[in-house]
Amino acid sequence: NNFEQLGLSDSLQRAIVDLGFENPTEIQQKAIPILLEQETDLVALAQTGTGKTAAFGFPLIQKMDLSQRATQALILAPTRELCLQITNELKNYAKYDNGLRVVAIYGGASISEQAREIKKGAHIVVATPGRMQDMINRGYVDISQINYCVLDEADEMLNMGFYDDIVSILSTTPDEKRTWLFSATMPAEVARIAKKFMEEPIEITV
Ligand code: AMP
Repeated sequence: NNFEQLGLSDSLQRAIVDLGFENPTEIQQKAIPILLEQETDLVALAQTGTGKTAAFGFPLIQKMDLSQRATQALILAPTRELCLQITNELKNYAKYDNGLRVVAIYGGASISEQAREIKKGAHIVVATPGRMQDMINRGYVDISQINYCVLDEADEMLNMGFYDDIVSILSTTPDEKRTWLFSATMPAEVARIAKKFMEEPIEITV
């Protein structure tokens, strides 16, 4: 098996060659064709280090409409470090998707600087829940038109007490958006989020 059979765009395949990825990981083999071909909600049980960032990142990049300036996808992640790591990976993956803008939003850094970055355009916003809620409250970011929402390390986010922020953030997004939830474990709080915000999700486990 290799990346050519997954239905990825030429620009992504060129980036994959540059990155030196030879074969898709198990989560990538399972998730990428589903996310590219079906407009569906997804629950993926996967640990870190399994290649999950590319599993949601490749399809997300491919689905962005670069002729539109609006924010089309939101990725929520538990920590500043993960937020920056996802942002850097997505930028590497999108190196040949010219004009695609990915912006990171996280606490402990200048909110006005992050607002400026958003203002320049952000097709994909990668955020921690607390700072994201703050940015929404101040009117610095508009996620009312997103098509996709990714919850990465959902169990960690809920362990850190972000339940209310997540519910509040997701409540400002369109009902029709697709939600892709990644989690290493499925405690009750994660199941509660899935039940509240997802419709007949396809489930995959690696
Ligand atoms: P993640 O689980 O998304 O944090 O990815 C773990 C690491 O594996 C990251 O450094 C990725 O760049 C790398 N990686 C992701 N997919 C592949 C692949 N198909 N082949 C080789 N390395 C990969």
